[in-house]
Amino acid sequence: MNIIVHRGTQQIGGTCIELSTKNTRLLLDIGQELPPLNEDRIEPKMPLVKGLYHDDIKAVDAILVSHGHGDHIGLVEHVHPEIPIYIGEKALRIYNVTAQFTGRNEISNPVTYLVSGKELKIGDFSVTPYLVDHSGFDSYAFLIKAGGKFIAYTGDFREHGRKKPATGYFKKSIPSGIDALLIEGTMMSRINETVETEEEIEQKAFEFMSAKDKPIFVLQSSTNIDRLVGMYKAAKQSKRIFVIDIYTAHVLSQLQDSIPQPDKFKDIKVFYPRFLTNRMFETENGAKLMKRFNRFWIGKEELGNRNDFCMLIRGSMLYDLQGVGNLHGSGLIYSLWSGYRKTHKVKRLLDYASSISMEIIDLHTSGHASMETIQDVIDTCKPKKIIPVHTEEPELFAGKFPNAIVAKDGEAIIV
Ligand SMILES: [Zn+2]
Ligand SMILES: [Zn+2]
Repeated sequence: MNIIVHRGTQQIGGTCIELSTKNTRLLLDIGQELPPLNEDRIEPKMPLVKGLYHDDIKAVDAILVSHGHGDHIGLVEHVHPEIPIYIGEKALRIYNVTAQFTGRNEISNPVTYLVSGKELKIGDFSVTPYLVDHSGFDSYAFLIKAGGKFIAYTGDFREHGRKKPATGYFKKSIPSGIDALLIEGTMMSRINETVETEEEIEQKAFEFMSAKDKPIFVLQSSTNIDRLVGMYKAAKQSKRIFVIDIYTAHVLSQLQDSIPQPDKFKDIKVFYPRFLTNRMFETENGAKLMKRFNRFWIGKEELGNRNDFCMLIRGSMLYDLQGVGNLHGSGLIYSLWSGYRKTHKVKRLLDYASSISMEIIDLHTSGHASMETIQDVIDTCKPKKIIPVHTEEPELFAGKFPNAIVAKDGEAIIV
């Protein structure tokens, strides 16, 4: 089996890995690079993969998408429309609903849903996906066999979130002495970050919310469902209604009934951010999406008159925050990676919050494997070769594990 990491040997994000035999070519992830922190977007830079794109003669047999984060799926709209895509059902649904809100195309390629533990045959390859714990919902790792060789790809994963047992099960399922382990190493360059569990974050959020008799805002990603569930539980326990925006309401409505969502949980209200609402009403489909949850609507006037709510916000919602009066002394939970504080939208929002004396606290934990988890996976499966990906520090792997390969993007590795 041949492995080419087209992107990811020296960087976090934009992952694209090719596996091939004589007859079959598979891709693991088709990610877009993460934009620099001071910019919202980045010009898409396509990895050089023959037979992958729209205008090529199709020569890739399948793309396995580990999860729906843009740095793993972001270039999917550029691929040849006949290449089959393998992805989790919920991950696809979140991708497609987000596409409707951002003006991207939904995925129209043939799709097969990943089912944890269920083996798939793709040409020469046998692939078994395993659900893993990650900040992106419905994320998978893979065990892959071909030509008598056995490899594993972790995707993005961790073992300190709500799906910790899933990662534990994957870990135990990797055969000992496997030929190669492709493992994410995001935290190698963030080694000083504290790694708390999602339950610890939830508990601290509850303590903060229950100690205040003013509104609480939470700055977090709408698609970090583990975190959102924790914030919902903390809000409920501290007797607050939970306010989400219309986009988040649509994301949640794609998920199973046990996940908080407006029409299944009675203490959830839906806010319509000004700029998003204006843009969505420009098209017929957009207007339809906006109306779906209007019976749960809550406006800024009502919010200005209440103290008993917890509202999720994003960096783009500064205007809306300014529109809600009476916020002096309210609370803001910063629940994103600390690096995002440098982005101009987040910075502006936090500056505004400080200027009106909101109390700001940091409550966040990484979506990625801690050093301890990485060490544990490697100790458990004792791989012959370790290929670090999704990392800025492959050399740290090599320093720690003698069988780690510091590869270059585009270089063939034979296992
Ligand atoms: Zn990633
Ligand atoms: Zn991810």
